[in-house]
Amino acid sequence: MQAEYLKRQPVVMRILTQSITENRLGHAYIFEGARGIGKREVASWLTKAQFCMQASPENRVCNKCVNCRRIEESNHPDVHFVEPDGASIKTQQIKDLRQAFVKRGMESDKKIIIIDQAEKMTAKSANSLLKFIEEPEAEVLIVFLTTAVQRLLPTIQSRCQLLTFQPLATEVLVRELETQGISEARGRVVAHLTQSSSEAIEMAQDEWFVEARKHVVQLYGYLRVADPMALIYIQTDWIGHFKEKNNTQLGLDLLLALYEDKLHLQLVSEQPLICMQQEKMLKQDALNTKLLTTTYEIEQILTAKKRIEANVGAQLAMEELVLTFVAIKN
Ligand SMILES: [Zn+2]
Repeated sequence: MQAEYLKRQPVVMRILTQSITENRLGHAYIFEGARGIGKREVASWLTKAQFCMQASPENRVCNKCVNCRRIEESNHPDVHFVEPDGASIKTQQIKDLRQAFVKRGMESDKKIIIIDQAEKMTAKSANSLLKFIEEPEAEVLIVFLTTAVQRLLPTIQSRCQLLTFQPLATEVLVRELETQGISEARGRVVAHLTQSSSEAIEMAQDEWFVEARKHVVQLYGYLRVADPMALIYIQTDWIGHFKEKNNTQLGLDLLLALYEDKLHLQLVSEQPLICMQQEKMLKQDALNTKLLTTTYEIEQILTAKKRIEANVGAQLAMEELVLTFVAIKN
């Protein structure tokens, strides 16, 4: 398991492993990075590394001893995981945490607190947590997990060591998806949309998504030859499938992927295509359109996305987009 994190987050893992080896692990860390990027997993590994009874020098955790198993089952008395109760992490939750530490009678001197979605801490609970860290008798390691470090209180930020998780390399994710039985062709498309392997797997296996991809390729088929049928297709087929704002945005991201591929082909870039299955068609289109047209098309899609974000109706934005595309060629 450690090998997997090393591969996914080599920088973070190197820093942590080295700090443990040299016995200079800090007392407070912020793990920052996108959702599903492995923050929780690395926090869990770090926790095990503190309590494992059979740690080997190279692996740090055995994943088998009673402590490793209790951490895995969220059942270790000296390890506490806090996540938002509703919209925020409330003062009461921090009070409960304090109680739990006192009551349970620790097994060792070490205590570890992991705060998930730490940006949702209220100022009050953050302050009460800071007091907790400062108690001299406690040997506490606290890890804040967050997608938005700038939203943490400055007092928290200044006391913690910040570790930024790197976006998963697309290639690593595509290969990981292949081990889950997801073809490279589909894997590349979903890996373009999300960095999270769990989200990517879910997407790749979702019927709605598979159908959505077909609609997008169909729409592209009309747009590439400036066929006015595109407008009717939006009204008869597209709108029925992409009902909500988020769906439409995803559809536009998929459409964008085709135009980005076309652009990469025109630029003779080494980058592998996102839409492998449309390679033949895209190669033709790359030869038959001007580079400027492609960048204009990409701009138009991005503009449609912005308009929908600003609450312009999805159907209206789509209709106007396809009309612009049809007009480019005519
Ligand atoms: Zn162990």
